[in-house]
Amino acid sequence: MSLDINEKGWGNAQVADLEQVFKSVCSTFEEVGIVVSSDILIKHCTDDGPMVIREKGPNGEHTVLLSSEDCRWCQHAFQFAHEYCHIFVEHQNAPHDHKYKWFEESLCELASLWCLRRMSESWIESPPYENWRQYAVEFSNYFDERTISSENFDSVNEFRIWLDEKMPKLKSDPLLRDVNLVVAVQLLKIFEECPGLWSATAEINVNLTDGDNFRDYLSNWRKLSKQPMSVDLISSQMGY
Ligand SMILES: [Zn+2]
Repeated sequence: MSLDINEKGWGNAQVADLEQVFKSVCSTFEEVGIVVSSDILIKHCTDDGPMVIREKGPNGEHTVLLSSEDCRWCQHAFQFAHEYCHIFVEHQNAPHDHKYKWFEESLCELASLWCLRRMSESWIESPPYENWRQYAVEFSNYFDERTISSENFDSVNEFRIWLDEKMPKLKSDPLLRDVNLVVAVQLLKIFEECPGLWSATAEINVNLTDGDNFRDYLSNWRKLSKQPMSVDLISSQMGY
């Protein structure tokens, strides 16, 4: 897999430095068994980004648009990790009218948060450049900034009741960012404890059918999964 970064629009950030940040995101996932083989073209685009384009390029490459700019490495990492997650869960295989697309969006939000936390530690140990070591704390600061407004729940049951209420809206609009964030925060703890869960998420768009409700969807995933215990863990963390 190679990263091809378009030079235009990144403000005062150098492409060579951006490449280090994006590679750092890829290695963070590689450490837990997630490897993407297709090449990725990354462009700056404030109007449409951040997003990954559904259609692949002529050589099977993915195109990612980001709106992050300048030397805000934490913002570049945050945005790229989200789109990288869409790529490794093979977003292009999900049907257009998929009722649980919001779940994929929430996993991608989780990928960003999880990555910020891992990079806040890995850049202390082995930063891409020696003089970036002190930058590691910025990943934690950005994590705090992104999650400060997230709701917290006393129990898994309370979370499920809250999510059930949001479900009708989520089915028609998978991009309810504040809801995606709360789901991501709810799942973060178990993904930090068991990062192997990421391999199970990579299966969500392989032959998966919606079912009548979210519980059915999760149980369809479990049936097809090579890691049913991982699916159980994710489901029970959401109260299903
Ligand atoms: Zn997304």
